[in-house]
This record gives sequence, structure tokens and C-alpha cells, in this order.
Amino acid sequence: KLTLSDPQGTHAAFDEHYTSTEMGRSSNCLSRQEHSLFHKASARLGMPAELSFALAKYEEMHKRCSQDKNWTHAFSNPDPADTCDYLLYTEGPAGLGNRLLSLASAFLFAVLTNRVILVDRSGDIPELVCEPLSGSSWLLPADFPFEKLDHSVPKLREAYKEGWNDTKVIYLYLREDQNGDDRQFFCTATQQKLESIKWLAWNSNQYYIPRFFTLAPFWQQLVQLFPDVSLVFTHLSRYLFLPNNSIWDRIVRIHLSYFSSAQKRLGLQVRLHSRGDLSEFYPPAYTQIMNCLINNELLPNVSTTNSMAPSFNHKQQKPTERTTSVLVASLQFKYYEEIRILYMNNPAQDGKFVQVHSLSHEGREWHSLDQDIKAFIEMWLLSFSDEIATSSWSTFGYVAQGLGAITPHLLNIRGDFEKNGLPSCVVGQSIDPCNHFPFMNSCESESLSSEHSQWIQQHIKPCQDEGNGLQLV
Ligand code: GDP
Repeated sequence: KLTLSDPQGTHAAFDEHYTSTEMGRSSNCLSRQEHSLFHKASARLGMPAELSFALAKYEEMHKRCSQDKNWTHAFSNPDPADTCDYLLYTEGPAGLGNRLLSLASAFLFAVLTNRVILVDRSGDIPELVCEPLSGSSWLLPADFPFEKLDHSVPKLREAYKEGWNDTKVIYLYLREDQNGDDRQFFCTATQQKLESIKWLAWNSNQYYIPRFFTLAPFWQQLVQLFPDVSLVFTHLSRYLFLPNNSIWDRIVRIHLSYFSSAQKRLGLQVRLHSRGDLSEFYPPAYTQIMNCLINNELLPNVSTTNSMAPSFNHKQQKPTERTTSVLVASLQFKYYEEIRILYMNNPAQDGKFVQVHSLSHEGREWHSLDQDIKAFIEMWLLSFSDEIATSSWSTFGYVAQGLGAITPHLLNIRGDFEKNGLPSCVVGQSIDPCNHFPFMNSCESESLSSEHSQWIQQHIKPCQDEGNGLQLV
């Protein structure tokens, strides 16, 4: 029913969204049907058949295991006759990008190990996304006894110290400050032991999917599910993180108002880490960003000597046909403002027009639902870009490039970047996010098949923005 005859698919997307909204069509998740129309043409990807099949099987299992379940009772008094296993997911303190990457990792772990994932509804993510599973819910009831998890459930490190006897629940602590025995999670022997544990709880702020590919029990299944491993997060995020209808309506409205009619869309995501005061505008970072954008022709250079733009034939070309629309996402207002003023006061050397937009300038992170909604909207809008420049080490940027299936220009604006002489940016080696803390040597020597080792050499690389990190390429 949808037509893709116009290159951006804008008209089709507009028609589809507004007819369906006006007519009140009974869809509980408009973004599921519509999102692909907003991505650039080369980023409209079908899901690999093996993955669709595995997800359908997972949904069926989730539905069967959820039937007539009182979750609080099932958790507090596990029934020995119950054949299902479970994974509890709580959001924990972290920025939205980190939490989304952690949830995607937990979900894939649940699929790989045949566990029903159950999500704590007190977090913000359930307020942002559609329920992903067809036929059953991944949300736990509001009165689920999460407080028990913090007090009485052993972490992996404790199970290793005190023994596994009669353990029915284990708490997986997979944050960046996990200690030695928490890291045993990444060992084949631990994975085998965990198979007999009915309930696992996942507490992480990291993207662990690249690390799963290094584990012998998961590798073969994973390469079947994902024929192109640079798109693992893209496929999972377009399944799990589709905006709910009210947020989707805001995203569509903003996109159609500010971005869709431009000839080209550029997403710029500016995030400074490892600096004392993150709320400040940092001029060397601005210089680095503009060097990247102009040297790589993401934006035109400006003429500061000639105040007249090269002439063009108004009759032949509409202004929108030579306009680049830039979305600047940043906690700080001034990056947006500087770029906007630059192109307002000076003509582009190639005679093109540059429009610059920003949706928010929060100043700093404080983790509220309102801030998460803004961040989520910006991640999605960035994902509709034709090209994107993201900040090194930022999970916010990873989510945007992943949702959009866009190879980013990765800005070198982390730490003391101006002292280390790095180029202003590099083209990303992959669309998939970086696993910042993979804890590679956490197991006693485990031998992998030579086929697996060769595959790892070819498809898992140190990240460009984190030498100790791992990235699927
Ligand atoms: P990371 O810290 O760069 O890895 O990204 P996270 O998303 O994990 O954490 C940063 C948090 O700060 C986000 O979740 C937002 O709440 C906020 N934030 C950072 N940059 C932006 C931005 O460009 N726009 C908005 N709206 N919020 C941002």
C-alpha cells in the first residue's frame, strides 16, 4: 500500500501517518509500520530471515510461558514443574543510550538462552517504546518485588565464593565496575552452570553483544541470525525500540516541519566526555567539529571574503533543492548557535543553503523521564539523516547511527584530543556500537575452534574510539 516513488519517501510517509492518525486506524504501534519510510533509501533494510524466524519462535515461547502467570508468585515460589526460565531486566542508573544498549544485550542473551525477558516497568524505557512482542507483554506488574533482588539474591561473585547449591536466582552484575568473579559470566563453564538457574537478573549499562560473539556456546547461532554483523544493533533496535504513538507523532511532526523537504539531511551529535565542566562550550571542540564537517564535505565551506553567494537560476531550482538541513543534538546550545550564525552571515562557497536546527539544550544530564523523551526523539530524528557525525565514546551517538543504519563520521572530541594530534574525525569502521568494557581475559584459557578464532580476527576489531573495546565489523 505504501509507495516509495519519491526518493525520500516523504510524501508516502506523510500520507500514511496523517491518514492513519486522522482516521484513528486501530494500530497500537504506528512507528512499526511507518519508520522505514523515514530512513534514507539505502537504510531501509529487511530483517534477515533467520532472525525473523528466531524472534517468532521467541515470541511464541514468551507467550506460552506467560500464560496465566502471577509473576510475583512465580518468582517468590518457583514451581519445580515449570519448564520456562527467566531473565529480569532493570534499568539502573545510566544515560538513555547506555540503558538501550544494555537492554538490547539482555534481550539477545534471553533469545540465545531461551529465557523469557521480563522488564521492570518502573524505568523510563517502557514509557518510550511500543511493546515489542506480539501476543504477550514483556512488562512486569508494578508490584513485582524488585527490592528482594537487591538484598537477598547472590551476585555471580558470591555464588563463586559460597557455592551454587540450591541457588534459584543469580544476579548478573555487568556494569563497567564489575569485579573478577562477576566477569566469569563470560566463560563457557559459567554459561553451562547458569543453564540450571531458573531466574537471572541483569544489571548492566554496557553493550555486550560483540562479546557474545566471542563465546563458544553462542557464536554459531549468532552468525546464523546476523549475516551482516555490522547491523546487529540496527535490527534489534528497530524491533525493540520503536517509539510509542504519542512520541512517534512528535518525531514525525518535527521531521516533516524541519527536515524532510531539504535536499540533504545531516545529523550532528556533540557530546563531550572527560572534561571538568560538561555544560561549557569548548572552542577547540567546535573547531574540530567544523574541520570534520567541512573537510569531509558534510557541510560546504563558507566564503568570508565575498559576501555574495554564487548566482543560481531561481526558475530552475527551488531553494529546498539546494538546502542541507542540519540537526544539532547537544546538551549545550552554543554549538548549534555558532554553526547557525556561521551560515547565516556567510554564503556557502558552493552556493548551497544550510539550515541549522536544534530541539533542546538541556545543559547537563539529570535523568528524568522528560529528558529521556527528548533524548529518544533526537536519537530517532538523527537516524533519519543522510549523513551523521557522532561523538567518540558516546552511546547516544551509537544508538542514533544504529537506528539509522548510517556509517558515522566519528568526531575525535574526547579527552585531550587537541594534544594528541588525531584527525578531526574518522569514518566509522562499522555501524554497530562499541563494547567499551569487554573484559577479555576473564576466563582461564579456553580454546576456541580455529574457525571461530579466524572469524573473530576478521569480524571483531578494537573500537576506533576505545582501544580496549570491541566492535563487530
Ligand atoms: P553517553 O553518555 O554519551 O554515552 O550517552 P547516554 O545517552 O548514555 O547519556 C547521556 C544522557 O545525557 C542522555 O541520555 C540524555 O539524557 C542527555 N544527553 C546527552 N546528549 C544529549 C543531546 O544531544 N540531546 C538530549 N536531548 N539529551 C542529551
